Amino acid sequence: MTTAKRLGLTTIALISLGASAAYYATLMALQGRPMASGLNFLVFALVAALATLVLLVFWRALHLSVRSVGKQLERMADSRQIGLVMVEKNNELTRITRPLNEYLTMLMGQMDALRSENRELQIQSRIASAEKNHTEAIIFSISDAVIVTNRFDELVLANESAERLLGFKFATSLRKNIDGILSDNTLVRLIRETRSHGGSTLAKTRKVVEHTIDEKGSPRVFTIILSCVMAANDEVSGVVAVLHDVTREKEVARLKSEFVSHVSHEFKTPLASIKAYVEMLVDGEAHDENTRQEFYDIIQSETNRLHRLIENILNISRIESGVVKVVKEPLSLTAIVKQVIDVVQPQAKAKNQRLVERLAPVYYQVEADHDMIHQAVLNLLSNAIKYTPEGGTITMGVTVDERRDIAVCDITDNGAGIPPDDLPHIFDKFYRVRANYKLAKGTGLGLALVKHIIETIHGGKLTVTSKVGRGSTFSFELPVLR
Ligand code: ADP
Repeated sequence: MTTAKRLGLTTIALISLGASAAYYATLMALQGRPMASGLNFLVFALVAALATLVLLVFWRALHLSVRSVGKQLERMADSRQIGLVMVEKNNELTRITRPLNEYLTMLMGQMDALRSENRELQIQSRIASAEKNHTEAIIFSISDAVIVTNRFDELVLANESAERLLGFKFATSLRKNIDGILSDNTLVRLIRETRSHGGSTLAKTRKVVEHTIDEKGSPRVFTIILSCVMAANDEVSGVVAVLHDVTREKEVARLKSEFVSHVSHEFKTPLASIKAYVEMLVDGEAHDENTRQEFYDIIQSETNRLHRLIENILNISRIESGVVKVVKEPLSLTAIVKQVIDVVQPQAKAKNQRLVERLAPVYYQVEADHDMIHQAVLNLLSNAIKYTPEGGTITMGVTVDERRDIAVCDITDNGAGIPPDDLPHIFDKFYRVRANYKLAKGTGLGLALVKHIIETIHGGKLTVTSKVGRGSTFSFELPVLR
């Protein structure tokens, strides 16, 4: 039973008591019994009833105040808002509500502080998340493979290139130790070492290593840049590894130095010969006109060889480096072959060779650079003439494969042919077939240029079939314009 109820019941009991006392006193007076005791009792009963009434009024006021305080507190709880509890002035409850209000005011102050702290944290969290998205976007857009680990060597970020190169799925590898993710032990060791040896100096936070990684069976060379991620307390909180593929650069550097050494070697022989014969002439070692003429011829032929070499090197390097602009236009392969035949006709005649034409109608067109295709056909036809003995036959064919939409140009000779061991190398720069060395002068650059023009510049295909002593067929195909 609540106190209010108990108080109510007591009041009702007292009123009933007062009322019955009043009734009893009245009854005594009516029956003519001594009034004194009856009056006394009546007075007492009235006083008691009055006191009870006062108590009742007081109880009622208290009850209302308690109810009002209760409602105010309930409202605060419902709205989750702290406010002050209001009671009327001089109310008994102010003894409770004053300290309660002081406490609530203090709570309100703390709540405000917490609220503004929370707002600040929210802003910071939004900035951090925007920065994280930004960093992720940068990392995902980089073509180099990037992996980021934390202080426990667990994977926290990796881009697509890293997934492809190192063969893992980022989504299923997140927060897993790199030990179990990366199969390349050297990379795991490098990341570990960078993290454990990391320090505040640049030398300790950054490391650049060259390392070869096997990518689907082919070795690729990478420059790996390993950087420590430093926390605010100057401790290493992770490692970022960027793997830059330098295989192509390495290959280009190797080819460059190979090219330079080849060129120097090729220059050396004719130069040495020119030098020797000029010295002999200067020293008067050519005693008669015939010997002098012989020396002059050798010098002229070696000078021509040097000139050819320089021309070819310039040609190939200009075209390969893109200095020569490629202008593709619709043109007839048949028309170009006819033009080249006109150019080489004197050489073929000089060797008593027969040039046979089997050319498709000129209206079939390919989209190509005229000068470059002219150069390619010229190189192939010159070779056929050079490496075919006197009286040989060279057949020029242009056919159109309508089903595949391609034009095919074949240059067939019945000359020396190429040994099978040499065939895979004849398109390499400076490669000359030893067996055919004496048949003609050359630089070993002609076919390399043809391959570059047909395959790299025009997206076509160049092939060769050959039999020693029977002859060779060089073919290239280009897409026909529709
Ligand atoms: P080169 O200037 O030596 O002719 P190329 O690059 O044009 O250089 O040719 C490379 C080598 O391939 C030649 O040295 C030659 O031995 C061989 N070769 C090219 N075409 C023919 C051919 N039609 N018949 C036989 N051998 C050929």
